[in-house]
Amino acid sequence: MKNWKKISLLTTVILLGLLFSIMYIFNISVSKPSFDIEFSPERVEREVNFEYKENKPKNIIIFIADGMGFSHLSLALQTQQLENTVSVWHQFDVKGWHDARSYYGPLTDSEASATAMATGTSTNFGHIGIDKDQKPLQNILELASHWQYNTGIVTDSYVWDGTPAAFSAHIRNEDDARSILKQIAASEIDLIFGELEDVGEDDVPEESESLDILRKRFLILDKSLEVPANDSFLKPIAAIFKEDEIQDMNSSPNLLTLTETALTYMSSQDKPFVLLLESEEMDAASHENDSKRVLNGLKSIQETLALVLNFSKTNGETLVLFTADHETGGIAAVADFDTYPNLQIKWSTKDHTAAVVPLFAKGPGSGYFSNVHRNWEIGYYLKKLISQDAFLTDEVEN
Ligand SMILES: [Zn+2]
Repeated sequence: MKNWKKISLLTTVILLGLLFSIMYIFNISVSKPSFDIEFSPERVEREVNFEYKENKPKNIIIFIADGMGFSHLSLALQTQQLENTVSVWHQFDVKGWHDARSYYGPLTDSEASATAMATGTSTNFGHIGIDKDQKPLQNILELASHWQYNTGIVTDSYVWDGTPAAFSAHIRNEDDARSILKQIAASEIDLIFGELEDVGEDDVPEESESLDILRKRFLILDKSLEVPANDSFLKPIAAIFKEDEIQDMNSSPNLLTLTETALTYMSSQDKPFVLLLESEEMDAASHENDSKRVLNGLKSIQETLALVLNFSKTNGETLVLFTADHETGGIAAVADFDTYPNLQIKWSTKDHTAAVVPLFAKGPGSGYFSNVHRNWEIGYYLKKLISQDAFLTDEVEN
């Protein structure tokens, strides 16, 4: 009996050892799910009603950091040198998130997500300024122009890229640069700063043709960004740079210098304004899993945000929204206790993820963005804030 017990114990130990060896060799972990997660196919858009909460802002600045998720934000917080200044990220009145999914599911791209934020309607991949059935949607810059605002776009990417295009064009083919440029020239936008890319390839016109298209509406500024005295801001302005000419804080120009010029132009006029800022750096760097570029891009985003938040503070009538269209790369800062406090950066993909993204707001009207669930709700509230109608009713009641 004693022997039998010994044999059975030995057998159990051997079998368990064998099992753990197999699990180790084939990298099987009990905590790892071996199935795909079934995402909620929920497509029904939730009911959102505009309720009067606070004063409407005179000006609106929307800063979209393409591809920036909460892990990028964590890196920004963990690596920034503070030196007696308050982190820009702590200056927001409202800190929340939104689910950036496209109409058909949890993943999205810049075209679909930026369109949702620009128009207040959820749409599908590659759809620029159009709904899932390809019907054109009015974007917030068009609505703002209708209500006599000045409008502008500043991007460190190319001017016909998905995000700026969603705020300026209506088209199914995201590669049709010529058509997007023509639609920008036919719009009522007052300022556009950005690059050209893939010049001369497929549907992308040569630089001279692109500038000729834009010249139909805009005065094209040279690299100094100075407006000739005799034109003194009477005409809409554009500044167009070559591919990758706008990079991080070491390049000239950069997102900060372009934004400074845009704010000077916008605030020199008597009208309210809506300004879209885009940084492409988190998306571009994360598609390449380039950690160094992420850190440089974060600096450019933070410096530009500091400028914009300071403008909002001194101006007192400007709402600043900061958000992203989706997360790219699944980046994570991993702490190894042997080498602590040094952090290692790890990536989970070279593509977009289904992660929720930050939505921060500061200034008058920021309270409207404290309970946003989906990306399209941002466009919905922005339209309400721009349109005079919503406030006329409330003023009568007050
Ligand atoms: Zn991307």
